[in-house]
Formats: sequence, C-alpha cells, structure tokens
Amino acid sequence: MVHAQLHCIFPECDARYTVDSDANECKECKGLLDVRYTGIDASTVKELAQLRRMNNANVQDRSGVWRFRHLLPFYLEHSRKEQNLVSLDGMEGNTWPIHVTRAAEYAGVPSENVWFQFEGNNPTGSFKDNGMAAAFTHAKMLGRTYVACASTGNTSASVAAFAANELNQMRAAVFIGDGKIARGKLAKTLAYDPTVLQIEGDFDDAMARVLEVSSNEGIYLMNSVNPFRLEGQKTIMHRVWEGLDWNVPDWVVVPGGNLGNCSAFGKAWHELYELGLTQKMPRIAVINAQGANMFYQLVQQGACWNGGKVNREHYRQAFTHAPKAHTRASAIEINRPVNFYKALRMLEWTNGVVREATDAEMLEAQAVVTRNGYGCEPASAATLAGIKKLREEGLIKKTDRVVGIFTGHLLNDAEALIEYHTSEQKNLFSNQPVRVQNSLDRIVQALR
Ligand SMILES: *Cc1c(COP(=O)(O)O)cnc(C)c1O
Ligand SMILES: [Zn+2]
Repeated sequence: MVHAQLHCIFPECDARYTVDSDANECKECKGLLDVRYTGIDASTVKELAQLRRMNNANVQDRSGVWRFRHLLPFYLEHSRKEQNLVSLDGMEGNTWPIHVTRAAEYAGVPSENVWFQFEGNNPTGSFKDNGMAAAFTHAKMLGRTYVACASTGNTSASVAAFAANELNQMRAAVFIGDGKIARGKLAKTLAYDPTVLQIEGDFDDAMARVLEVSSNEGIYLMNSVNPFRLEGQKTIMHRVWEGLDWNVPDWVVVPGGNLGNCSAFGKAWHELYELGLTQKMPRIAVINAQGANMFYQLVQQGACWNGGKVNREHYRQAFTHAPKAHTRASAIEINRPVNFYKALRMLEWTNGVVREATDAEMLEAQAVVTRNGYGCEPASAATLAGIKKLREEGLIKKTDRVVGIFTGHLLNDAEALIEYHTSEQKNLFSNQPVRVQNSLDRIVQALR
C-alpha cells in the first residue's frame, strides 16, 4: 500500500501531517514541509513510464508529469484517485533533453556530453506548469476553489491558465510587484484572466503579503513553498533520466530564484536513489543572477545543511537585511528565497555548488542558444553561463555528462532581446536590421 504524508524537513522536529492539509509550514517549528511516501513499487517505474508515453488516447498518460505519477502518488490518499489529476490535456511536461551544438561549444563541453531541456516549451512558457499540475490536483483533493500566488510573471501565468482551464470551478488571484515585469509575462498573465493585484513593492513584498492572505483568508497558495508543486517539478528530472536512457548525468545545472526547482530536482534524484532505481547522484549546480545572489553569498560564507542542524535565527536576520534584488533576469530577481533550507539540503545530497552570472553573461549565453535555432529567456540562460563557468574552473570535466535546464520561453522577455540586438554599443552576437532604400537595386546589393 502506498502512503503519503507531509514531514517537517528538520530532523530534530520531524512533525508529520496528513496530505489533507494545505499547511505550507510546520505548525511546531515553522519549517518547510516535504511530501514523503512509503510503499512505492520501484520495480514497475520505468516500464510504466514507457508504456504510458505510447498511450496517446489517455490525457494523463500523455502528460510528462502524470506519466511518472507512481513517483508522486500523493493523490492515491484520496478516494477519487486518478480521475482527479489536473492536466492541461496532457500538454504539460512534454519536454526531453536534446543536444544544442553551439551552446556546447560555447561552454567548452563536447556536444555529445551535454544536453539541454527546454522547459519554456510548456503550454504557458515556463517549467511552472509541471508544478501546477500537481498543486492544482492537491487543491482539488481538498475541495479548494480559490487559489493565489505572488509572481515575477511566469508563476502567475501558469496559475491563471490552470485555473481558467477549470472553467468556473476555480478562481485565481495573482500578486505582482509594481517594479518592472517583462511585458510578455504581464501580457500572458492578464490574458488568462485572473484577478491581478499589483502590490506597491517588489517580488519579495508581494510574496510576504500573499503568504499572509492565504493563511488568513483560506486561499490556496500556489507558490513553490507549497510542497505539492515541487512534486510536479520532480518530473523534470524524471524526464532527464528517461531521456538519457535511464542513466544519471554527472551534472544538472539550473538557475535559482526562490530555489524551488533545484530543491525539487534534488528530491527527485534522492528518491530514485533511495528506491534503488539509480546507483549515483548527479551534482546539482544552482546559478544565481549576480544582482540577486543571496544564496550564492550565504553558501560562500559557509552556509550548509549540516544534517538539519542550522542556526535559523542567523539566516532570518540575514534575509531581513537582504539588499533589494536587481537584475535583467526578472524570473530570478529574488533575494529572500523561500526554499533556502531545502536548497541547502539539496546541496548536501548532491554535493552541489552555487555560482553567479552577470546580466551580460546571461544575455550573451541567451544569444548563443538562439543562434542554434532554439531559445530561452534571460534567467534561463544563467544555466549556459554557469556551465561555461564551471567548465573554465575545471570543476566540470571534459568527459562529464552535463544536463542544463532552460526554464522559460524566449518570448517571455522580448524587450531584452530587442535591446541586446539593437543597442548602440554593439554586443558580440547582436543582429541589427539593415536599413535599405525601397529600391530593387539597393536591396539586391544588400543581399550580396
Ligand atoms: C520561476 C523561474 C525560475 C526560478 O525558479 P525557482 O524555483 O524560483 O528557483 C527560473 N527561471 C524561470 C524562467 C522561471 O520562471
Ligand atoms: Zn517542524
């Protein structure tokens, strides 16, 4: 019998709650919560995923999240079981690792050893759809009809789209800061028709307010502090594993904002290892933007999980005094990452590392990806800038197998692209339009 339970992540507390709870923190110690399972049958995991991938007739089998549902079986606690799984008709999570030759060359890793997975190809343009499929499933299990999130634009679009797809069953409110938001992200968020509240403050302020509102007003919270969202995001790694023919890479590289994604990745590999399905752990590298680098800084200063024995008061102080984040990579413009402790634990599990990338490095890396015919938004390109850096340091070896996750779609931030390609001071890979007179001769000349 499969059984799922919520656990406080701090071993010295170890409080447990049923999955019928929508608590986002431990009632005893305010720690983060994990969904943990007993009784998963490891022997059928690979075969089931493969059979389901071939089954075009079933929406849940087509979904790149739900074809791995036996690795996130929290929904089995509920009487309606699989009928209740939420999906954008199987479209979420249809991504897999591919080779991108120019990106590999740029990073200095042989192309056959490096794969990239474009999570921006999800229905709403970011990896967030993986998490929402699971979190909306949990919200429905609990009979909840009103959901909310704070967002720099991608989370809000994903929440709004999943709510819209429930037609009149689900209402969504999204909190955005009043600073800059990439227009593509604002546009898609407005279009999916949630209630949009623009808070006078930045993302970190919007996050603090939505946490209060959700716990006071009983509105279901869709941010990555929600442990069920991270269950959905584990499948990003399940697809990497499947795409590498069930092999574990040496490295997984991912940008870090609120640190939910990297934490979900760590949990995914940790569980596969514990189930005996894999024989090693990959090293996970998290890349911060230099202008939003609290995680990088704290780890540089020696922050570590230490089996859960951490001075939480010390870090509470550090985050209270965190400088205002400032980067062109809006998706990771966050200085008080809500999943900090889970991310520390992930570093311990995976022997992971944290690096930072400047805006210029991210924008250049982004341009390299587009010159290979693919695309990602600036924050996502932190992944490629990070691989390049780790290769230069020699930490990533030439023979290492590396997987980079591109988290969001190219067009989420069209302004960044136009700026890069048309700015006065010419960028390395810029592509300026050539102005030509409306004359056939001149046009032909320009084409030579
Ligand atoms: C949300 C987001 C991130 C940051 O992910 P976290 O889980 O908050 O660390 C990075 N890139 C893109 C494109 C995103 O939308
Ligand atoms: Zn606790």
